[in-house]
Formats: sequence, C-alpha cells, structure tokens
Amino acid sequence: MIKLLAVVCCFVFTFIINGKHDFVNFTLKNGLRVICIKKSAIPIVTIHICYDCGSRCDAIGKSGVAHFLEHMAFHSHGMAFNNFLEEIGAERNAYTSLGYICFYEVVPKEYMEKVLEYESARMRSLDINQEVFASEKKAILEERNMVYDANPAGLIHESLYANIFNRMSGGISVIGWKHEIESIQQQDLFDFHDKWFAPNNAVLILVGDIDPQRIKILVEKHFGDLKAKSLPKIKTRCNVAPSVVKTVGCKSSEANCFRTCYVYRIPFFARDNFRKYLSLSLAVQAMNQSEFFIIKKIKSATNMLNEVNFSFTSNAAYDIVTIHLTGVSQDDMDSMEELWHFLKEKLRTNSGLTDSEINAVKRQRSTFIAHEDDDIKLIAYSIASLLISGYSPEEIMAQDETIQAITQQECNNLITEIFSGDPIAISKLKRKDYEEK
Ligand SMILES: [Zn+2]
Repeated sequence: MIKLLAVVCCFVFTFIINGKHDFVNFTLKNGLRVICIKKSAIPIVTIHICYDCGSRCDAIGKSGVAHFLEHMAFHSHGMAFNNFLEEIGAERNAYTSLGYICFYEVVPKEYMEKVLEYESARMRSLDINQEVFASEKKAILEERNMVYDANPAGLIHESLYANIFNRMSGGISVIGWKHEIESIQQQDLFDFHDKWFAPNNAVLILVGDIDPQRIKILVEKHFGDLKAKSLPKIKTRCNVAPSVVKTVGCKSSEANCFRTCYVYRIPFFARDNFRKYLSLSLAVQAMNQSEFFIIKKIKSATNMLNEVNFSFTSNAAYDIVTIHLTGVSQDDMDSMEELWHFLKEKLRTNSGLTDSEINAVKRQRSTFIAHEDDDIKLIAYSIASLLISGYSPEEIMAQDETIQAITQQECNNLITEIFSGDPIAISKLKRKDYEEK
C-alpha cells in the first residue's frame, strides 16, 4: 500500500482523450517522459524508447559513436535481451539519426513487463564483449560503404553537411567517417552511454493493448529508481556565415549521374512553432508533386533531368534547419544551375502553391493518419520523433486538426520567407567518368 502511494505521488499526470487516441501522458520524478496509447484490437504492445542524443552528440574526432552504441546496445548484457526477444518471436529494431537513438520492440502483451525490465537495464549500463565489438566494427564499416561510399545520394548529403558545418569530423556523418570509425574504442561507447543514457534524456512510448493505470506502476517499478543526470550542453556546430555560398564538389566511383543540391536556411526553428513546422511539411510535400510548376519547369526546360526533389531537415538536431533542392541529371551539370537562377526569383516572389495543391496534400495526410491508426508501431514511431523534437503530446495528438486548418497563404508565405535569402551551400556530385575541362 505504501509503495502504491509512493508511485502515485511520483507523477505529473494528465489524462487526455481526443477524437483520435485515448492516451495517458506522465513524467517520472527523474524526468522520464512516458506516453501510453490504448489500442486493444490485438493483444500486442509496442515499446519504443528514444534517447535525445544522436550523432550530433558525437565528440569531435569521434564520429559514429552514437550509431556504434546503438549497434552494441543490442548485444549488451550477454545477449540476454536479444535472445529473449528471439525466443518470444518479437519484432524489434533500432535506429540512429542526427537527433536521437531509438529502440523498439513489438511483443505479445504478456511480455511487456519483461521488455520494460530489459530496457531499464539498457538505460542503466552497457556491457560489451570484445569479440562482438570487433565484429560489429566490421559490420559498421560495411554499412558505411553501402550507405555513403557506394551510394551517390548518401555521399552528396554527407558532403553537404560537412560543407554547411565547415568541418569533416564529429557529428556530421551519422555512421561516421571511415578513419574515425576505425579508431573508436570500447571506452568511447561507455563514455557516451554514461553521458547521455539517462531517464531525463529519454521518452518512452507504449502503444497497444495496455491498461494505462497499470503502466504507471510498471514504469515506476522498473525506471523509478534511476537517477537523473546533468546533461552536457553541445557547443554550436554551425560555422556558416549566411552570406557565403560555398560550393563543394565530390566525385563518386558509383555515380552514373550528376547531382546538384541547393541548401537554404529556414529562418525559424521549427520546434518553436508546431503549426509552422506542419505548414512547411505540407508545402514541401506539395512542391514535390510532379504538377508543381518548379518541378515541371525544371523537367521540361532541361529535358535530361531525371529527378528533382525538395526535402528539409525535419528535426532541430542542429542549430540550423535547412531545405534542399536536389536535381539529378544524366548528361549535364550546368543546365540546372542556369535554370535555378531564374526559378529562385520566382520562389522569392510567389511560390505559386495553389489551393487545390495544398488541399490534395491535406487529403493525403488524412488518409495516411487514418491508415496509421491501425498500426501501433507506426503510431509510436511518429510520436517518438515529434516528442523528442520538443513538441508537446497535446500538439502531436491534435496534428490532423492543425493540418486541416492550415491555409495555402501560410504555405506560400513560408516559401517566400525561406527563399528570400541566398543558399548557404551548393553541393555538386560529378559523374564517375567526368573529366574537368
Ligand atoms: Zn547501423
């Protein structure tokens, strides 16, 4: 009885029901944020835990440590967690981005507590076997080769970030620069874990056939005694003077095409304003439709462009948020640049997104959200990335209503605002057989 009272006192507790999900949202005294969503159609549960420490937290000269830690955390503690998950036929995976490291499992509901126990052990400590460490290093070097070195699209993005952030080391490349991965020692992983794996640096999302009241007790039982840590501050990484356009060129032995990528700074932090973030994501989605006038114009004018797309950094992992336009061309490097001078003036004055283009994208979003409603893994995944980017559970749960209220004018204003500046970087990737004149 005493224990139960102690448990209840530990929460800052809100229970919110909206049209879409029934969810419980609470924070333990040690800072661990928890969201549980009840979906009882099937007796399974997904457990998704994210740490707010992606490759942006890699020290200078130690790129790839966050990602390496993600790999090793699977094999920690004598593989006990891994073996258990295999035995019960669970689905599980992990991922690392600039912003965060996440782990998730999908299990029959009766195993949820055991998984919470293992996740709590993973948060407490890391236990590394030398043999596994060596073989994972090999696997990661191979992964680097696949994702960047042998993949022109990956390579141009890696070089772009190095360009924007003005250095070739630490935190810019998620998997890590080859020579730095090779130099990673076990101690680097322990240090990273010690610094960043803490309840006050994590969010835990549970979705499925669960009893929210029982969850509070279980989470407190397994995570409640962990101590909050004082988290290091990351120094600014952005060395870009906004007026300086830097062009980098790289060449890939795998590239059959030329690629040109223009990067613009988004002059607001998306995490400060969820509606603005959603407006931007709608605008970018609409600009990528083949009917958008820029895409049509680029394709018709150059004829040889086989791919054009807009993208933006979707979380505020760095000090700056950027929007990218990438053009891929079989035969030519300069036509994209000539055309771009003309098109950016257009974007500056009137991006020309029409009402029907924005409405079409809104409908696509609603359909996606409705589809997502059945998929507990996808629900947890989308909530995790937004939550760790700093948005509140209430904002996240109400996102469809916010999306539907966004106007075409808001989207157009954003595009004009972004393209009224100059690009902060241009990256070019040459075709493998290209000879400099
Ligand atoms: Zn990996």
